[in-house]
Amino acid sequence: MDIITELKKSNLRGRSGSGYLTGLKWEMVKGAKALKKYIICNASEGEPLVYKDYYILKNHLKEVLSGIEVALNTFKKSQAYIYFKPDYYKEFRRKIPKNIIVFKKEKEYIAGEETSAIQAIEGNKPEPRVKPPFPTEKGLYGMPTLINNVETFYYVFKIFQKKYNQERFYSIQGDIKNKGVFELKDNLSIQDILKKTNNWPNFDFFVQAGGGASGEILLSSELKKSISGIGSLIVYNTKKTDPYLLMEKWADFFINNNCDKCVPCREGLFRIYEIIKEKDLKNPVLKDLFLVLEKTSLCALGRFSVKPFSSLIKKWDKLKFPSIIKK
Ligand code: SF4
Repeated sequence: MDIITELKKSNLRGRSGSGYLTGLKWEMVKGAKALKKYIICNASEGEPLVYKDYYILKNHLKEVLSGIEVALNTFKKSQAYIYFKPDYYKEFRRKIPKNIIVFKKEKEYIAGEETSAIQAIEGNKPEPRVKPPFPTEKGLYGMPTLINNVETFYYVFKIFQKKYNQERFYSIQGDIKNKGVFELKDNLSIQDILKKTNNWPNFDFFVQAGGGASGEILLSSELKKSISGIGSLIVYNTKKTDPYLLMEKWADFFINNNCDKCVPCREGLFRIYEIIKEKDLKNPVLKDLFLVLEKTSLCALGRFSVKPFSSLIKKWDKLKFPSIIKK
């Protein structure tokens, strides 16, 4: 079987959040001329309240390893790594076959970014590299490198087996009864996902879609559109949520998990935190900070860190938080 043709036909997109077409990525690595190629399975999901890859490792490790094996057979003279976050490393490293090197990531979220992972494996500080060059051309030790996450390798194997039916895994958490990870069709609406999993609330709520830190805030009236590329949903009971505390948590997470490499992110996030602490959401500096972070941060952490704050503040009046909470 020509797996690259099959991956392209399937339209599978990487499940790390970037949504890059997997077949194209594999084709680039395959086509690159080099003495050696590397494969990295990124098992370092780090957004708060997201356990999707953990669920897959726990329940479908064999399929993930088989997906990596398909890559090893596709790229001649290649070496595979699994890049685990610390707790996953502890739990799964002994279950990995000897031909795959296991590597323990640093605890910070940014160490899971693909070029940070390459830096870490090379023994450097895990901080993002400027792209281009992309890892497919110049990755680990300067060689073409395929980086896919756990879920992507799982579906690569499904495609290899001809059993892929356009599904994805959804991690659903928050103020709901039926928390967990569910495999459903890609491109459902959030409303459908919550209903199909018995998680549609009977109270006022809003949703954070795309991760417990960088996910966007959506009103309950905004959930009917079909979505694709979002594997994490967190449901918040509006009446029981203190939005200032929530924003402090996000800011705290980003401050403690960025790499300090560039000024907009390092200093900007700290200023955002201070303004939120002061409950001064009308401060015009806040908008400037959002703009600078979005436009000038070196990597996606800085650029996307703005989304939860700006979306929550924009929808504040519609959310109708309890009157005790003043903007
Ligand atoms: S945006 Fe933040 S995490 Fe990314 S390189 Fe700059 S300081 Fe590091």
